[in-house]
Amino acid sequence: MIQDVFCKIINGELKTDKVYEDKDFIVIKDINPQAPVHLLLIPVKHYFDIHAVINEDSSLFGKAMAVADKVAHDAGLSEKGYRLIINEGEHGGKLVPHLHIHILGGKRLGPKIVK
Ligand code: 5GP
Repeated sequence: MIQDVFCKIINGELKTDKVYEDKDFIVIKDINPQAPVHLLLIPVKHYFDIHAVINEDSSLFGKAMAVADKVAHDAGLSEKGYRLIINEGEHGGKLVPHLHIHILGGKRLGPKIVK
């Protein structure tokens, strides 16, 4: 069984600051926030990457956007906006091998997507 840090959080082995959960997703506060609001939207089922989701259940991305919209609204980000990021692979800078979407906001973010 795959046991990355997000699986451990989902299984309740690790404590975290959870702001949302349903049968498909949890949303937690990032342990090392890069903005005043930095949330991680994580599928409950272990998917390594985007490719794995597309192969198995591409409808999950539509559901993920609905959850992102809701939690962003609840976090007060709707009016001024926010940024969603998925890091993939070595060049994308992915650290945790379990698909997740960063939700960042609460201040004007840098103008560049790529440094
Ligand atoms: P990645 O670079 O893989 O897209 O980002 C992984 C993110 O997970 C990082 O922003 C990192 O701070 C966050 N993270 C890693 N371990 C933990 C943890 O145990 N708890 C929480 N809440 N966030 C974590």
